[in-house]
Amino acid sequence: MKAPSPFVSLEQGQSVFKDTIAEMTYLEVEAAIGRGAIALWSMGVIEQHGPHLPTATDVYIPSARLRAIKALLADSGIEALIVPPFYWGVNVVSANFPASIKVRAEVMIDLVSDVIKSLAGDGVRRVFCVSGHNDGGHNEAVYRAMRKATVESSAQACFICDEAILRRLGIEMSDPHVMPFCVAPNQPPGPFLDIHAGEWETSVMLGFNPEVVREDRMTGLVPTNLGPDDLAEWRKGFDASRRVTPLGYFGDPAAAHAARGRASIASEAKAIVQGIRQRVA
Ligand SMILES: [Zn+2]
Repeated sequence: MKAPSPFVSLEQGQSVFKDTIAEMTYLEVEAAIGRGAIALWSMGVIEQHGPHLPTATDVYIPSARLRAIKALLADSGIEALIVPPFYWGVNVVSANFPASIKVRAEVMIDLVSDVIKSLAGDGVRRVFCVSGHNDGGHNEAVYRAMRKATVESSAQACFICDEAILRRLGIEMSDPHVMPFCVAPNQPPGPFLDIHAGEWETSVMLGFNPEVVREDRMTGLVPTNLGPDDLAEWRKGFDASRRVTPLGYFGDPAAAHAARGRASIASEAKAIVQGIRQRVA
């Protein structure tokens, strides 16, 4: 197999299957597991992302993140296999928008833990998961799936999760099923928040998958200028979030820049790789 390019994470327009086991043969996967490869898996969702971003935004972004992580791990001598992205999840906030596909948490927990158990049966010993979607119910389901898979298989499953989300869910930072990480907050200075399909997510999409961004729509979108009280209301989901953000985005998408998105993914990947290296050692 061709050695991965160290610049692979910086290429644009890559399919979410790029660098995953979906592009490998079973013999190549078997050999990597034999060499002790760890598995990386992203937990996305199909969800509305405003008038300018595709519904798979939460699948594209963590896929770019995992490709960057895999390349950095390879530099440290740690081989990783990326599992094709998970993309049916729990949607509360965007639940009443079209194309925000909802599955029950228990279905997601069973499916995620079954896939990890299957990988464990193939000999994978460690599975690290990242989320692409900030809905509380979705991330709680990821966490519960890690616990279930670790109890029911020979693999150790670990949820690499932003500290702010763990705090929101009431999960201890020392919990063995999570690996907390912290990067500089993606918030602009000032009273207004950038939460969903705003500057940050749009920047990352412009940085890695500009071919699916509707730039003509993006440039005409006015900032939502919403603060923490609006966020609390928005998080109630369903009709409440449609009232707070009728167009679906929460933030300032027109301020997005590809370079900022690429820099953000690079610094996140660096922080996460440090954590994985400690765990694997
Ligand atoms: Zn998103």
